[in-house]
Amino acid sequence: MTCRFDLEHYRELLAAARDGDYRFALFEHEPEQGDIFLRHDVDLSLEAAVELAEVEAGAGVIATYFLMTQSVFYNLASPIGVRALNRLRELGHAVGLHAVWPGAELDERFDPVVAWHNPEESTMSQPIDGAVNVMEPRFFAPAHYRSDSNQHWRSGCPHQALAERAVEWLQLLVHPEIWVYPGDSMRETMLAMLAAERDRRLVQLAEDRIDLS
Ligand SMILES: [Zn+2]
Ligand SMILES: [Zn+2]
Repeated sequence: MTCRFDLEHYRELLAAARDGDYRFALFEHEPEQGDIFLRHDVDLSLEAAVELAEVEAGAGVIATYFLMTQSVFYNLASPIGVRALNRLRELGHAVGLHAVWPGAELDERFDPVVAWHNPEESTMSQPIDGAVNVMEPRFFAPAHYRSDSNQHWRSGCPHQALAERAVEWLQLLVHPEIWVYPGDSMRETMLAMLAAERDRRLVQLAEDRIDLS
């Protein structure tokens, strides 16, 4: 097995979790033996989020997608944003807020669960009124946390630990863009994402009656 950041290996990761007899849990109860809290911070691309969500649904897996209302990169209020959110719901996933400190304004689009975007150490685990903060001590401990940030697993790709059930429970943070777009480095992956965005933008410009002749 090669630990590439692509959809093939993502499916293998999910299969490894099944081999380890883990169950995919939502941030609705205290971690229990065998729980995986599959968390997706959607920083850059709604399209990548939906694509990953479809893969998970095909594997019978649920996750929590954290969407931004203040993103520089996408507009959740646009028709594309509304469709993406509806599709995530249809597939059975939970949807939380990927918030920018200090604002965590939940509305009816979101379940009462928050993940901070680029959090500061000093404030990241503080409780939030009326919502679960995924970095609260009960959900977050270094031994129970893995993240693919910048296409790098700090303590190695978790597929083996999952298959062997080496951790009692796990919060697994996966950024959809990294797996959906090809690239052997974060830079390559981002360039592939931008190329796809450019194509989508050209279609949107034509739909917006922009003369591209
Ligand atoms: Zn791996
Ligand atoms: Zn983020």
